[in-house]
Amino acid sequence: MVHFVGAGPGAPDLITLRGAALLRAADVVIYAGSLVNPALLDDCKEGCETFNSAEMTLDEVLAVMERAEAEGKTTVRLHTGDPSLYGALREQLDALRERKIDFDVTPGVSSLFGAAAALGAEFTLPGVSQSLIVTRLAGRTGVPEGEALRDLSRHGASMALFLSSGMLEKVRGELLAGGYAEDTPAALVYKATWPDEKTVRCTVGTLAAAGAAEGIRKTALVLVGGFLDAPYEKSRLYDPSFTTEFRRGDA
Ligand code: SAH
Repeated sequence: MVHFVGAGPGAPDLITLRGAALLRAADVVIYAGSLVNPALLDDCKEGCETFNSAEMTLDEVLAVMERAEAEGKTTVRLHTGDPSLYGALREQLDALRERKIDFDVTPGVSSLFGAAAALGAEFTLPGVSQSLIVTRLAGRTGVPEGEALRDLSRHGASMALFLSSGMLEKVRGELLAGGYAEDTPAALVYKATWPDEKTVRCTVGTLAAAGAAEGIRKTALVLVGGFLDAPYEKSRLYDPSFTTEFRRGDA
């Protein structure tokens, strides 16, 4: 059996209870060494074999899983954040389906939530934005037509950009071309929830300069939108005059 587990954004205690239990019980662990906190491996059992997938190809990862399976062992494939976001998850699941190897997936706290927590921010502020666009700038890996950053920018929604902090000048240009104003609030969150986490608040206009000044080029998220600053309306859910299924309002 292969368990795909979300490791969370960095802090070792942000893995789920289920993920931690699977990790403790694993005979073989394949972890995404570029971003998974190695401290998570401290609780692996004696004799557990560990592999860093950052140095492996897909075929090599699958070969380790196949061998473990043939030996009746339990494998944990540890992905950063949540495995369903930029995790190259599906190609592994499909390969295991083909090989008739059982698997399951345990979700994790995505770094996008680690970043919001670091800033004390809420992506969905009433009167500001009720949508979050999770995307990336096209780089060495492209994005499908219709998902160019400048096209998505037309919505003016809250935005979380993965895999883009090494191209901030281009990010800035696309966001401006798509319609965000120069003074739209933005932030860079480097290594959210790690001991060396860094948060930088800026604007769309100053994004590239802020990144250069702080030396942030990778392992960072770019957050964009009025939710980082603008005036907002309070939630109706907690408004004294608003009646809900659970509470009668006074108006
Ligand atoms: N599945 C992961 C994303 C993997 S893609 C998740 O859910 O978070 C790798 C990208 O994620 C990095 O380039 C960076 O943009 C972002 N990232 C991962 N961990 C991060 C962290 N702790 N802080 C900020 N960004 C992070």
